[in-house]
Amino acid sequence: GDKIAHHGYVESGEFSVGDIATLSVDSVRRGLICKNHSATHLLQKALKTVLGDHVEQKGSFVSDGRLRFDFSHNQAMTAEEIAKVEKIVNEKITEAIPVETKVMTIDEAKKTGAMALFGEKYGEKVRVVMMGDFSKEFCGGTHVSNTSTIGTFKIVSEAGISSGVRRIEALTGEGALEYYKETEAELAKAAAAAKTEPAKLADKIEALLAEIKSLTAENKKLKDKIAKDAAGDALSGAEKVKDTSILKLSLSGADINSMRNLGDDYKAKLGNSVIIMASDADGKVSLLVMASDDAVAAGIHAGNIIKKIAPIVGGGGGGRPNMAQAGGKDASKIEEALAAGVEEAKNML
Ligand SMILES: [Zn+2]
Repeated sequence: GDKIAHHGYVESGEFSVGDIATLSVDSVRRGLICKNHSATHLLQKALKTVLGDHVEQKGSFVSDGRLRFDFSHNQAMTAEEIAKVEKIVNEKITEAIPVETKVMTIDEAKKTGAMALFGEKYGEKVRVVMMGDFSKEFCGGTHVSNTSTIGTFKIVSEAGISSGVRRIEALTGEGALEYYKETEAELAKAAAAAKTEPAKLADKIEALLAEIKSLTAENKKLKDKIAKDAAGDALSGAEKVKDTSILKLSLSGADINSMRNLGDDYKAKLGNSVIIMASDADGKVSLLVMASDDAVAAGIHAGNIIKKIAPIVGGGGGGRPNMAQAGGKDASKIEEALAAGVEEAKNML
């Protein structure tokens, strides 16, 4: 029949049959729900218009804060499609269409072309909610009396929730305005952090990224130079055994690439040589041994030197006869490891 049910719970006291009770509806909250619910009617029709007639309602949730609408569609909506749907809904809000509700027989309702929920069972008489010619839906819910009351409409997310089903979350009226306000505040905060104004933020970020790129390149150059300087006149410290020069180098802050570049430089300068290098960068030890071809021919095996000395600094590693590297943890043992490396190289010659 035409009964309306309300859910509630008793906070204190008790009810008995025959008591007279006063029901009061939270009109502000109800108003917000009305706007969100009415917007789902416009949203559904707009989705069919933009994406096609395969769009069917798969679920819907409306609160005073936001609306959620699930519908059948096989792929993510593009930004363009989302913008189109938003535009259509907002146009229908601006058109200020009166919302009419009519109770009619199901046959009459079907003749109007009203959208029914697929698979839903309806009684003899149904309620049809019409927003002009744009939207006609079977619905028993609560609506605004004119679409203009919805105020404005903003989609905040679109995502897949299961195979072939997408979910849109959207805001209306005060909720949408609040969202714009928050977004504007975030933008202002980001602009202030970047020391510019919101309209110039994107350009500023691009400029900052370019600056970071050039500083990184400069930093790398300086690191290479520091590694070279730190090695200084280390060349004079080379020890010659037979025809092979053995050079040990202790570096600070050099990464493995800088060490490799430096090793190549020394090999070029010393000719027949083996370079045994260690670097301490933020407590992490890197070991690198490089040997020239004639040093390898004379018996040097860089990999075997590394195997011998890496455990001294608490690491492990190995490699080829002409180049090998290892990591380690104990920087206090670097000198000991380098000395052991020189001894091992001497034994090989
Ligand atoms: Zn409705």
